[in-house]
Amino acid sequence: MTDLAISFEDVAAAHARIAPFAHRTPVLTSTTADALVGGSLFFKCENFQRMGAFKFRGAYNAIAQFTPEQRAHGVVTFSSGNHAQGIALSARLLGVKAVILMPIDAPATKVAATRGYGAEVVLYDRYGEDRDAIGRRLADERGLTLIPPYDHPHVMAGQGTVAKELIEEVGPLDVLLVPLGGGGLLSGCATAAKALCPDCRVIGVEPEAGNDGQLSFRSGAIVRIDTPKTIADGAQTQFLGNYTFPVIRQRVDDVLTVSDAELAATMKFFAMRMKIIVEPTGCLGAAAAFGGQLDLRGKRVGVVLTGGNVDMARFASLIADAA
Ligand SMILES: *Cc1c(COP(=O)(O)O)cnc(C)c1O
Repeated sequence: MTDLAISFEDVAAAHARIAPFAHRTPVLTSTTADALVGGSLFFKCENFQRMGAFKFRGAYNAIAQFTPEQRAHGVVTFSSGNHAQGIALSARLLGVKAVILMPIDAPATKVAATRGYGAEVVLYDRYGEDRDAIGRRLADERGLTLIPPYDHPHVMAGQGTVAKELIEEVGPLDVLLVPLGGGGLLSGCATAAKALCPDCRVIGVEPEAGNDGQLSFRSGAIVRIDTPKTIADGAQTQFLGNYTFPVIRQRVDDVLTVSDAELAATMKFFAMRMKIIVEPTGCLGAAAAFGGQLDLRGKRVGVVLTGGNVDMARFASLIADAA
């Protein structure tokens, strides 16, 4: 028995629940990438997932388990990023009302995309108002259920289906590289990987400027940092979760960091060599593979590419400056 938030059975149940609605994303390989590291890389392309990132998996798995009463009232979350769109799309598919709290200065395209999925967007002033307090008040007043972006067992189990699909498709791996923000994806993927191939080393990868996960992993207690300045906007989290951290401590082998310059160079590699668009946060795992801090020679390496949602003007300027 374990007192951890999720088991492999939870990931398997999540997979059965979401499989009819989520894309089974492709696994790409590249001779050029393999030659760079001397091993075999398997890129799990969640940039091709519905709404453009893996967040659909956890969001759908969470809302699909609402009671009839929860469904009747609706779901609320706060995020200006991929989780908001994952919740909005999942809620629409399940016929549930979604309320998304977003900062007043969120990019207009993100607000429009979220509204486009049928969600109600409530704007707040991120410098003047406390987002958690507003979220709780909205939840209380309207009977909404709050689904946070990572620290929730159903979200974690849903994200773990990424690694389950990858390993079931390509077979056992020696190493699995997973981008790390709040740890929903890493905790789920580690749970799946350790069940399916116990010898696989599971490694989380964070932006250098936001290494709270590495500090937490190595010290054994959750370390909090200020909002980090990095181009990896999906990993600007300040701390791991109360559910995700114990799972990561137990099932993950290490946490590494990469620089913004490495992320930009990796983004350019994917565009030029593999003709795919991966957002900066989505490049974390691959940048660690290319960075040379791991000996991957002769190894079978899974790399999760988490998402492809990046504004085209921003993409162009990051690529233009990249090595
Ligand atoms: C949310 C997100 C992450 C980080 O996931 P966590 O579960 O918070 O660790 C990585 N990449 C992308 C594209 C994301 O949207």
